[in-house]
Amino acid sequence: MDDSFGFSRLASRRSDNELEPAAFQGEVDAFLDQALTTVLRAAGRATTGLKSSPAACQAWRQKLLERGWLAPSWPVEHGGAGWNATQRLYFENACAARDAPILQSSGIRTIGPLIIAEGSQAQQARYLPAILRGEHEWCQGFSEPQAGSDLSALSLRAERDGDEFVLSGSKLWTSFAQYATHMFLLARCDPHSTGGSGMVFLLVEMDRPGINVRPIRFIDGEDETNEVFFDAVRTPVDDRIGSIGEGWKAAKRLMAIARSNNTTTGLLRRALRAAQRGVIEQAGMDAGFALLLADMALRVDTFEALEVRVSAGDMAVASPQAASALKLLATELHQAITEIGFDAAPNSAFAQSKYFATRAATIYSGTSEIHRNILARAIGCP
Ligand SMILES: Cc1cc2nc3c(=O)[nH]c(=O)nc-3n(C[C@H](O)[C@H](O)[C@H](O)COP(=O)(O)OP(=O)(O)OC[C@H]3O[C@@H](n4cnc5c(N)ncnc54)[C@H](O)[C@@H]3O)c2cc1C
Repeated sequence: MDDSFGFSRLASRRSDNELEPAAFQGEVDAFLDQALTTVLRAAGRATTGLKSSPAACQAWRQKLLERGWLAPSWPVEHGGAGWNATQRLYFENACAARDAPILQSSGIRTIGPLIIAEGSQAQQARYLPAILRGEHEWCQGFSEPQAGSDLSALSLRAERDGDEFVLSGSKLWTSFAQYATHMFLLARCDPHSTGGSGMVFLLVEMDRPGINVRPIRFIDGEDETNEVFFDAVRTPVDDRIGSIGEGWKAAKRLMAIARSNNTTTGLLRRALRAAQRGVIEQAGMDAGFALLLADMALRVDTFEALEVRVSAGDMAVASPQAASALKLLATELHQAITEIGFDAAPNSAFAQSKYFATRAATIYSGTSEIHRNILARAIGCP
């Protein structure tokens, strides 16, 4: 394997899994207290969407990379921290408590772990170091105009021509596609197939001829999502995860990974602090706001108790039901918190932006209705 990234050095590093919880927490706290400068914390506090400012993200990811903590869930031999779920949760919450910049990296949280689990050695050597160094940014090409909640209805065509697939069709709502160097996507390689069969999971370079990205402007003025058009785009057959025709299996594995890497209590506490600041600075803390904020604080505590149990393995971490419950509760609670901030400061650009940004949270990664369906089925509803 290419050792330009220093894999041999990483392999000999001690795993933090060997530390006692108190020692681990002490190490995390000491590092964060020192590494998170006033400027970085201010950038974290000013964040209203899914990512902090590019400059803050760049500075923060570099510090984490040097400390070996940029990819908390990756094994140490691939340049990650090698932490278990409980350690990851502690770290994420400790970052959020200090208003660390928010890094939203699909490469680190979703496709990187899938490449580690199912990619070839050549793919691991090609993609993983580039993700860690920030050279590759990934976007997720699943949804299409006629395929959202029912993803298995997707129709982007992947026609085989020798060693290449030729892609034709489009993807919709692709977050950050305009900045991405690569897209992982699902395409239909068997035109006669329906549902989850006859698909291929491809790793596609975004600068291939025939790819066009058109940003979609949202109500908050941001253009985080995009339409992506594929006009006879050629991409190597080898640049895929899993077998041809079995892409659906790889996508399901990726979604399970994404669910197990989600930690949200810290984000909710951050939002609650922001709403509290808005109330104090803009509206004044009266009994009405105090009651609303206390109710939210209790609900965040309850959510945290569930998240801790799930991440500690009390319930299966990757179980669709537990993940659905967490996703549903977290996004609806996040919206309720930003509503208080907006009510307290309706003319504040920050409160408006946070309010609007959280509206989409009950749509992406499965809508609330779809998660309620999953939970209803789990308790035996018809
Ligand atoms: C901000 C944002 C970012 C996104 N980023 C990405 C991305 O990076 N990559 C990507 O691939 N996709 C992305 N998406 C797409 C997202 O996954 C879809 O929007 C979502 O799955 C819903 O699909 P849809 O929009 O086609 O709505 P539809 O599936 O058409 O649903 C429309 C309405 O019908 C309801 N509904 C549908 N089916 C049922 C049912 N069986 N029972 C009850 N109600 C139902 C839904 O809840 C919804 O209210 C993003 C979306 C948003 C808003």
